[in-house]
Amino acid sequence: MPETAGGSAAEAAGVAGAADRTEYEGVGVGTATVAGPVARTAQAPPEPPDVPATATADEERRKALAALAAVAADLRARGAAAGGDTADVLEAQAMMAEDPDLEERVSARVAAGKTAARAIHETFAGYREMFAGLGEYLAGRVADLDDIAARAVAVATGVAMPGLPRRTEPYVLVAEDLAPADTALLDRRLVLALVTAEGGPTSHTAILAQSMGIPAVVGAAGVLDLADDTVVLVDAAAGTVVARPTSEELEAAVTRSAAAVTATALRGPGRTADSQPVRLLANIGGAADVPEALAAGAEGVGLFRTEFLYLDADEPPSLPAQVKAYREIFEAFGAGARVVVRTLDAGADKPLPFVPLGEEPNPALGVRGLRAFRAFDGRNEAVLRTQLEAINEAADAVPADVWVMAPMVNEAPEAEWFCDLAASCGLDVVNGRVGIMVETPAAALTAGAILAGRTGFASIGTNDLTQYTMAADRMLGALGTCQDPWHPAVLKLIGAAGDAGAATGKPIGVCGEAAADPLLACVLVGLGVRSLSMAPSAIAEVRAVLATRTLEDCVEMAARARWAATAREARRTAAAR
Ligand code: PEP
Ligand code: MG
Repeated sequence: MPETAGGSAAEAAGVAGAADRTEYEGVGVGTATVAGPVARTAQAPPEPPDVPATATADEERRKALAALAAVAADLRARGAAAGGDTADVLEAQAMMAEDPDLEERVSARVAAGKTAARAIHETFAGYREMFAGLGEYLAGRVADLDDIAARAVAVATGVAMPGLPRRTEPYVLVAEDLAPADTALLDRRLVLALVTAEGGPTSHTAILAQSMGIPAVVGAAGVLDLADDTVVLVDAAAGTVVARPTSEELEAAVTRSAAAVTATALRGPGRTADSQPVRLLANIGGAADVPEALAAGAEGVGLFRTEFLYLDADEPPSLPAQVKAYREIFEAFGAGARVVVRTLDAGADKPLPFVPLGEEPNPALGVRGLRAFRAFDGRNEAVLRTQLEAINEAADAVPADVWVMAPMVNEAPEAEWFCDLAASCGLDVVNGRVGIMVETPAAALTAGAILAGRTGFASIGTNDLTQYTMAADRMLGALGTCQDPWHPAVLKLIGAAGDAGAATGKPIGVCGEAAADPLLACVLVGLGVRSLSMAPSAIAEVRAVLATRTLEDCVEMAARARWAATAREARRTAAAR
């Protein structure tokens, strides 16, 4: 953790002397700089010791059950305050805390002489082990279980329940990482910024911060040492947190944010400062996402994740049902607005019950995306054919400019196979409306050969491209810091695809999380990308930052970043002006 000497006016920030100025480094999310007092989440209590209970078994049992009931009541109260989906999520957690099987197991442990806190801890540890071994979905519930356990142990041992601080004035939230129950309750008006000691750029916290438009610095080691109410300056673009900043630093930050506020008021199509158009598109998963996309001024859709509509379907959706669902979305966009539909990305993190793929030891490297319809002698091909026919039919009667692309393509023959199938379903291959996603290093490095064929465009899925470049499963929290699209290896692959686009005159876009990072968006443009598709909440900031750089600036930033040694260095060197 680097420490730097401070200026003379740290006291002006209402804090300790200049010598106390301390800087922490992490991974930034967003570009804003904000200052405010720290408020920390209460920490999870330590593991309760396995010592004999001093109270009677009956008293310990009552204490344990009362703690679980208090947790359930607290979760429900917070759910009621938040409403909507949050209330449902917290109700599900409350029900877990009141589960009769849980009560039975805790009671049995107490009867065997454990303290209330220890019995709760051991029972949840048992569930944890069981869930962690039961596949991805249930493993994902482990965080919920840990959260309930920590809350119940806190109540049983008489310390504050871990979770968000109760504040009425704006603050910078500092935490080890955020529990799902906390993230759902964040109040955008009070939380100026998020700072966590753990987590990487694709952690739950980072994604949440991105989608709520809250600047964040994640993975900043040492920040848990910050006391409540210490004034910090959080610079999301640089990925730094300065505790007890100097007054000069605070003034400079205020000037920068005033300029940023003016810039975010911009509307209209995306362009650089010298008017190079960069189409700003929205990522959507269904009709519910369309209003936000339109409100953000999206110029269309760069990624419509169609599989999201059918994650729970046991049977393949029928042709008429698909036509209706797609048309509803296409109709929302006006003449000329591009809507890029991704065909079903089945497999790995998005299994579809009606596309059987069999058991695989490593689904991320398995039959997924386009492969799901080509493997097994084409036994699933009819599902893809029906989908392409439905897209074609739905696109027929709308003014929007509908494009279609296939996920997880590695090389030219697969792309040609997809073009053949799409053409036979009536889609417009000839005019470049059928394309592919570049999600593997193989596709990036052979993009020239792919685009030399009938493939009309390429959209780079930086989430998968990063996981395959870094050989790090994107679902593994433990490898979260590897999942950083700023890594120069990823940038070089994007540059290879960008060069292929320039050589063939075919458009290259990005539709992974990378497009939502305003600074990285400029680098992507410098690498040859001409459309950026992202969560609608990110569009305003990307538009604003892009408008401050010329194409030449972007090219220079990209040149510096791609020759860096690490993701962090790439970001830093790109940010330097
Ligand atoms: C990607 O991989 O970057 C992408 C956009 O697709 P998904 O996140 O749905 O896999
Ligand atoms: Mg992908």
